[in-house]
Amino acid sequence: MENVVILGTGAAGLTAAMYTARANLNPLIIEGLQPGGQLTTTSEVENFPGFPEGIDGTELMAKMRQQAERFGARFQYGQVASVDFQTKPPKIILDDGTTIPSQTVIIATGATAKYLNIPSEQKLIGRGVTSCATCDGAFYKNVPVAVVGGGDTAMEEAIFLTRFASKVHLIHRRDEFRASKIMVERTTKHPKIEVIYSTVVDEVLDVSKNEVSALRLKNVKTGALSTLPVAALFVAIGHQPNTGPFKGQIVLNEVGYIIADNTKTNVEGVYAAGDVQDPSYRQAITAAGSGCMAALEAERYIQHQHG
Ligand code: NDP
Repeated sequence: MENVVILGTGAAGLTAAMYTARANLNPLIIEGLQPGGQLTTTSEVENFPGFPEGIDGTELMAKMRQQAERFGARFQYGQVASVDFQTKPPKIILDDGTTIPSQTVIIATGATAKYLNIPSEQKLIGRGVTSCATCDGAFYKNVPVAVVGGGDTAMEEAIFLTRFASKVHLIHRRDEFRASKIMVERTTKHPKIEVIYSTVVDEVLDVSKNEVSALRLKNVKTGALSTLPVAALFVAIGHQPNTGPFKGQIVLNEVGYIIADNTKTNVEGVYAAGDVQDPSYRQAITAAGSGCMAALEAERYIQHQHG
């Protein structure tokens, strides 16, 4: 039986890994399809304390991993197929059938980008429709592109894309942004970014090539339709927590986030950290902070079990 199994290798999972490894708990970390988590899809991280010049997201995660490995954290590739939290100890079942019983589990599976769910969007994912500017921005040099969304992610993506695109159209469904003031200012002042307010994307058009060629836009105030020629659509409208395997095993809120009290879930010995339990802050530093909290809680729980 394991002492601690950590699900996820984002900022929360890796911080929990470092703390539990330093506490000599010999943690096992299950690494899924996106090693390093969401930070590996951002470019420059300017707001992680300790890096006054900023740091590349992938580099920051590589450093966190090294730090966890230095203290003996073990990593294993795997997708969580299901869990059994009704038994003691709780069990993790991977998609290859491996069952891992563990005294404690720290869920740090993060969140995934949402899409618009308009019919033409799905078939064009990877053919001009994407949710990751850092991953795909460089494919669209000297052509117009569009970003949809009004939060910090949309602003960040739009600014990043100005490095490549000839023009970045930022499409937002309201006439006011949700993003922070500083990001809104940078975006709206940027000479390459044009904001289209009170507008939604009705359809992604691919004319003949099976690649994005334009967007059909609808002004939500007037109902007017228009066509915007672009080579790519970057969707930046928020995230969905990765809690599929935990449904019915642990208390989730109405949109699927794990409900945790100082990282403690409703199941003894099972903790949640990072974006999977945080719909409101969603920062690398808050994820790392909650990973630390979960690790300390797990350590206390194990100590208590052994009297
Ligand atoms: P948010 O939830 O903050 O914003 C999502 C945006 O997408 C909103 O403007 C929303 O519109 C819009 N939207 C949602 N659904 C649709 C839809 N179906 N069609 C059209 N538009 C839609 O998500 P973010 O990912 O931007 O940010 C999440 C959190 O992460 C925030 O707390 C943010 O501050 C933080 N963050 C911080 C960064 C930083 O500090 N460097 C960088 C990136 C994110 P509406 O406003 O009308 O609801």
